[in-house]
Amino acid sequence: LVSRLTPFTSTIFAEMTALATRTGAVNLGQGFPDTDGPARMLEEARNAISAGVNQYPPGPGRPELRAAIAAQRAAYGIEFDPDTEVLVTVGATEAVAAALLALTEPGDEVILFEPYYDSYAASVAMAGATRKVVSLVDGERFSVDLDAVRAAITPDTRAILVNSPHNPTGTVFTRAELAGIAALCVEYDLIAITDEVYESLTYDLGSGGVPHLPLCTFPGMAERTVTISSAGKMFNCTGWKIGWVCAPKELVSAVRAAKQFLTFVGGAPFQPAVAYALNHESAWVTALRDDLAVKRDRLSEGLAAAGFGVRPSAGTYFVCADVRPLGFADGAELCRQLPERIGVAAVPVQVFTDTPDAWKHIVRFAFCKKDDVLDAAIERLHKLA
Ligand code: PMP
Ligand code: GLN
Repeated sequence: LVSRLTPFTSTIFAEMTALATRTGAVNLGQGFPDTDGPARMLEEARNAISAGVNQYPPGPGRPELRAAIAAQRAAYGIEFDPDTEVLVTVGATEAVAAALLALTEPGDEVILFEPYYDSYAASVAMAGATRKVVSLVDGERFSVDLDAVRAAITPDTRAILVNSPHNPTGTVFTRAELAGIAALCVEYDLIAITDEVYESLTYDLGSGGVPHLPLCTFPGMAERTVTISSAGKMFNCTGWKIGWVCAPKELVSAVRAAKQFLTFVGGAPFQPAVAYALNHESAWVTALRDDLAVKRDRLSEGLAAAGFGVRPSAGTYFVCADVRPLGFADGAELCRQLPERIGVAAVPVQVFTDTPDAWKHIVRFAFCKKDDVLDAAIERLHKLA
């Protein structure tokens, strides 16, 4: 294996899920839902297979899906031309990788916020670029330090990768944080790559919660933002791997140039099904969101009762917790023991950082699970005290 990839030989999700499976533990590590998406969407996929939608779809994605994606983005007040400004990808993961491969030269610097989703560092490395990491601040909520972002920018900075709602912390970047990031992108002529896969999962909107705001809607950002999202988290179909890129024509063409030689195309029969869901299942998504907010509360309260220092989660599938109140110093050590010891799997946040010592007290738990699964985990976690 080449040296630039040796730090990335296995993913924490694979490791923790294998450990959970081996020990029969409740898996609150890897974030995937344990219920299916909208019934009619599943039926549309089966129908597509029966109807012979089983060969290569068009390079940019099936037209009905591109139209549905553009219509979904239009609800934020942004117009994308489905023919030239939308590209269907094999999940958001491929979209991020293709964007970095297409838009950064070896030696360019890419700013990431840590903790960062694990594929970012690996994709930056595959592109031959260098990551510059800015830490979110662990306080009332996990927040963005705009002075630290400015300090990370150098003449070699080419792009900034922004993930909000944010995995693993569950923070949702505020309007002020996004405006500050946007202003820096304009001032230093940076490309923004946004990972918005949890866009529909922001909570407490009726009571002061932070709504999702696409970075591309901020002044000066439409022409420099590569917006990425995916169906997995919107419609409980993480295994379908239907994602997309929306951006101005030149940027989409660039990303497509890289994407066509990564996978060419993918997921033919899932594409019409996701198009159907985008067009017709927004009420289902709202219900999912409301349901997840209750699950977040259930798990957060359970973790607090078990003695963890629970951080607020404003979106995503995840809640973070401080393990120090229970007398543990190292989340990675704890997560490697938890399945065997009490039958629960979680993910240590330090593995998503370049400064593991600063984050080793934080562990991530997924709450996108059935209530009885969450309750079983909570009951087991009480044995730690
Ligand atoms: N970005 C983030 C922040 C994620 O949490 C995930 C998935 N869990 C992805 C990207 C990957 O999305 P996809 O499955 O669509 O590739
Ligand atoms: N995105 C999911 C998580 O953060 C899992 C993705 C994966 O397994 N690569 O848990």
